[in-house]
Amino acid sequence: MRARLMVAADAQTVKGQACLSQEAADRSDVASPLPSMVRGACPSLSAPMQTGDGLLVRLRPSTPGLTTAQLRALAKAAEEHGNGLIEITARGNFQLRGMTSQNVAALAADIDRAGIEPESGVAIEVPPLSGVDPSEIADARSLAKQLRSAIASLHPQPLLAAKLAIIADGGGRLTLDELSADIRLKATNAADRPQLWTLAIAGTDATATPLAALSGEQAIAGVITLLKTLAAIGPRARGRDLDAASLQAQFSTLPSLARSPTAPSSSPVGLIPLDKERAALGLRPAFGQIHAQDLIRFLGLAEAADVREIRTGPEHSLLLLGLPRDRIEDLLAVAVDCGFQTRADDPANYVIPCSGAGACASAHYATKQAAADLVDVGAELLDGSLKVHLSGCIKGCAHPSPAMLTIVGAATGYAIVVNGSSSSEPVAYIGKEKLKSALATLGKLVRNNKAAGESAQRCLKRLGRDAIATALRQG
Ligand code: SF4
Repeated sequence: MRARLMVAADAQTVKGQACLSQEAADRSDVASPLPSMVRGACPSLSAPMQTGDGLLVRLRPSTPGLTTAQLRALAKAAEEHGNGLIEITARGNFQLRGMTSQNVAALAADIDRAGIEPESGVAIEVPPLSGVDPSEIADARSLAKQLRSAIASLHPQPLLAAKLAIIADGGGRLTLDELSADIRLKATNAADRPQLWTLAIAGTDATATPLAALSGEQAIAGVITLLKTLAAIGPRARGRDLDAASLQAQFSTLPSLARSPTAPSSSPVGLIPLDKERAALGLRPAFGQIHAQDLIRFLGLAEAADVREIRTGPEHSLLLLGLPRDRIEDLLAVAVDCGFQTRADDPANYVIPCSGAGACASAHYATKQAAADLVDVGAELLDGSLKVHLSGCIKGCAHPSPAMLTIVGAATGYAIVVNGSSSSEPVAYIGKEKLKSALATLGKLVRNNKAAGESAQRCLKRLGRDAIATALRQG
């Protein structure tokens, strides 16, 4: 393992590669034709990417979580070899910033010494509480493991799009419903039936096209069929390129299954009860980013509070497991002091900035400063009913799916998108100096027009794009 990392981290190999950023890696709409055997290598230890603050490394451990000691080692390595900034991405990957081509190999060696093995191959994502959540329908880790092994045994290995993503979701308190994937498996909880998995393609849980309901074994075979079909289409093919109708016919061995209603997914931030004694504590580094020193300080106290394991989750979260309930209050206070958002209803949870200026070379503005400004002047928008996506450029890395409001940086100012993604048609453009006042205008629009009991999202939807554009023009 060590040898592989060291060779892969050869500093001379990292420059000039046509890799996309982590942020872009989290997007589902950009692909590069890399062999599946190096699927996880962009922009990871083997191929960091040059950004505004140096080389960026993205990392997804192959284990569900890390021990506090492992995460501390990762943070120390990030500080020693980079600028110490650590991010948790929208899909729950670690991202370390500010490395140089001279020290990536040393970073890789430190990570290896900590016993952290980066995941490689096709990305198969499972909910962060898999295996510990009593309310889950199935433990998706086991299905994911079998699937990885089935893919690894293919000869020849299929050439797949570099950003191809598979989600295996066993349900429970924290699902991955809002993340987009090329291929989705979702456990169904049909009464009086054996456990089945719904196989779907191209989208989030709400938008993906279902193909069939299959047993675990059939689901694995089904995914392999889809991967081979994608490879036959071409090395850039994505789930959206598959012919859903012909696949539905092909998978008609079992009747499709109407899904039983399931409890809505919890926020990954805050206390998540698991049973009478146990709970997971979800924390979110403020606007998705924390400095290694703050993380190391927090981990010392978390370890003293008996935290056994830390997993990454959706929406830039960290999930602490093993924490006795009577230690939670103390640890929450420490977490706030170390720069974490700790409450599910913290208005800052609903602002999603990308890395922004100072960190990403493509950024046209300081998205994290704008996020702080929004909390300050536009809190009416942040009632939890909608998300505001602050995107430094049109790529939209931090929130690939549509958001109620997206503010996209451009060379001459900002594009305001309503109910769309960063590449959707904007309703208005504002000038370079007008961002903070535009945020205040949007907040004021909601404050002045919200009916009693109405959410910010409903209010904006009712007002419509034209009213929003007019307010921005006049504001
Ligand atoms: S500016 Fe933001 S959206 Fe654009 S590439 Fe950088 S991180 Fe991604």
